[in-house]
Amino acid sequence: MRRSGRDVGLWIAAVSVGLLLLFLSLDGEARAPYTEALAAIEAGKVKTARIDEDELRLELADVKRPLVVARIPNMDERTLLDAMARKGVVIEAQPRGSLAWLWYAIPGAALLASILLGRGRAQAGAASFTRSKARVVDAGSRSTAKFLDVAGVDDAKAELAEVVRFLAEPERFRKIGARIPRGILLVGPPGTGKTLLARAVAGEAGVAFFSLSGSEFVELFVGVGASRVRDLFEQAKGRAPSIVFIDELDAIGKTRSGAQGFVANEEREQALNQLLVEMDGFDASSGVVVLAATNRPEILDRALLRAGRFDRQVLVDGPDVQGRTAILEVHARKVVLDRDVDLPVVAQRTAGMVGADLANLVNEAALAAVRRDAVAVEARDFEEAIDRLRLGLRKQGRILSAAERRLVAVHESGHAVVALSSAHADPVDRVTIVPRSVGALGATLQLPETDRYLLTRRELEDRLAVLFGGRAAEELVLGEESTGAADDLVHATETAHAMVTKLGMSKALGPMSLGGLPPDGTSQLLGEECRDRIDTEIGVLLTAAHHRARAILLARRPLVDAVCAELLAKETLGRADLARLVRAELPRVEPGPCNAEAS
Ligand code: ADP
Ligand code: MG
Ligand code: ZN
Repeated sequence: MRRSGRDVGLWIAAVSVGLLLLFLSLDGEARAPYTEALAAIEAGKVKTARIDEDELRLELADVKRPLVVARIPNMDERTLLDAMARKGVVIEAQPRGSLAWLWYAIPGAALLASILLGRGRAQAGAASFTRSKARVVDAGSRSTAKFLDVAGVDDAKAELAEVVRFLAEPERFRKIGARIPRGILLVGPPGTGKTLLARAVAGEAGVAFFSLSGSEFVELFVGVGASRVRDLFEQAKGRAPSIVFIDELDAIGKTRSGAQGFVANEEREQALNQLLVEMDGFDASSGVVVLAATNRPEILDRALLRAGRFDRQVLVDGPDVQGRTAILEVHARKVVLDRDVDLPVVAQRTAGMVGADLANLVNEAALAAVRRDAVAVEARDFEEAIDRLRLGLRKQGRILSAAERRLVAVHESGHAVVALSSAHADPVDRVTIVPRSVGALGATLQLPETDRYLLTRRELEDRLAVLFGGRAAEELVLGEESTGAADDLVHATETAHAMVTKLGMSKALGPMSLGGLPPDGTSQLLGEECRDRIDTEIGVLLTAAHHRARAILLARRPLVDAVCAELLAKETLGRADLARLVRAELPRVEPGPCNAEAS
C-alpha cells in the first residue's frame, strides 16, 4: 500500500513537471521555483514584488530579469508574504482578469503539493482526488481472516467476539434494546495483530469491511481527507451491517494543537473533525461498527475518546511464552516442519517478539531451509532465523539481553513479594516481564477487591513499601540498583508528598492541610523552615517504606527467588501461580537462576 502510494506520487510529480515544461515552452517566460523566490527574499535581494492573480513578479536588486513565480489558488502564502514584509520589500498588488493561471495552477499545484507533502512524509501521495480509497472487501471476496489466524491475544478476541455476534445478528441486540459500543479502539504495540484482528472480526461476522489508514490522510490536499471520511461512512452505511476500520488512528487523531507544516496539519484537523461528525451522526442501530487501531493512545485527541465515540478500548499487547507458541503454530501451518522442531522451545527463545516478528521468523526459517536445499524446516533453521532477527530487534530496544531480563524479573518479584506480604496492599493480580506498550519493561498489577474511595494511612504506607519493592529486590539480589525504579520513585515521592501536605499524615507537621498550594510545595506562602520540614517528613516516609520493603524481602528471600525463576520461565504469573508459590514457600535458600550471586 505504502509503496504504491509513493509510486503514484512520483508519477504525478513526473507528469506535472512534464506538463509544466510544456506550458512554459508555449508561454515563453520562465517561472522560478517557489524555493528560489523564498531564498532571494531571505537574502534581501528583492526590491519590489508585484502580485498578480496568476503570478508573483519579484524585481531583484542585482539582476535585470524579474523572478517570476507561479501562484497557486488557495495556497497559503503567508510564509512568502511574511518574509517580504520582514525584508522591507515593496509589495504591489495588481488584479488581472484572466484564466491563464489555470494553465500553471493545475500541474503546478500537483507538483508543489507532492514536493511539500513528500518532504514531511517520505510519501509523495495525492494518489487520488476522487472517491474514497477505502478498500471494500465485498461479498465476492469478503475478509477471509478468521479468529483462528490470530493467536496469543485471547482477551482481545473475547471482547471482540461480542462485536461479531452483533454484526452477525443485529436483530437480536435491537429487540432486547442492547447497544453495542459505536467505536472500539484497539491499542497495542506495532505488530501485535491489531489490523489482523479487525479483519478477523469482519471475516467472522461475514460483513463488508471498509478500511482506511490514518497515514494516508496526511498526504492529501486540504479537504480531500475530510471528504474521504464522509465517503467512507456513506459507503459503509449503504452496506450495513459493516465495519469501518481506521488503521493508525493517531495519524489523524493527534491532539489538535502542535503546528508544524501548514498543509499537513490543516488537512489532518479537517479529517479529524469530519470523523468526529460522522461518529456522532449515526446511531448504533445503523449496524455500522467503527474499529480503529493505534499504538500511541496517549497522543490522541481527547474528543475521540469521549462517550459515544471510541469509548471502549481493547488492549492488544505483546504475547507471553504461551501466546508466542500459539502464534508460531498459526504461522507454522504454512510451512513444512521437521519433527525436530519444538515450537514451545522456539517461543522460549523469542521473548520480546510480537506476532509480526514471529510471522517473519517462521518465514526466515523456511528461507534458511530452502538455502540448505532441505525438504523441511528444521530446528537449526529456526536457530539461524532467531539469531538473524534478534540482532535487528535488539537494536530497536525491543529485545532484552539475558541479564536485563533477569534484572526485570528480580525487580518485579520484589514488587510482588512486598505486595503479597503487606496486609493492607491490594492483591496482586498479575506479574509480568513481557515488555509493555508504554515503555515499562515489566509490571506488577494489583487490583483492589472493591472500588476504593478512601484510603487509610496503613494502606498508603503499604503502597509506598510495594513501590520500593522493585528497588529493594535489585539491591538485595543483584547487589546494586538500576534505573528501572525511576517511575516507582516518582510515584512514591508523589504519594508521600500528598500524605504530608494534603492528608495531614505526618507526625511532625501534624494534621494540617497545606493543600491548594503548587504541587512542588514551593509556594511563597510557606516559610523556608516549613518547606524544609515538609522535605524532611517526605524523606522519613520514603526511608521507612524502603526499609520495610528490604526487611520483607530479606525475610522471604526464597519466595523472591521462586517468583523470579518462574517469571523467567513463564513471563507472566497470575493469582493462582503466585498462590501456589506462596504455598510452596521454602524456609531456606536453594540455588537457582535468581540467587546465583546471593551467597
Ligand atoms: P498491527 O496492526 O498490530 O501492527 P498486524 O495485524 O499488521 O499488526 O500484524 C502484521 C502481521 O503479523 C499479521 O498479518 C500476521 O501475519 C502477523 N501477526 C501479528 N500478530 C499476530 C497474532 N497475534 N497472531 C498471528 N499472527 C500475527
Ligand atoms: Mg496495523
Ligand atoms: Zn518497578
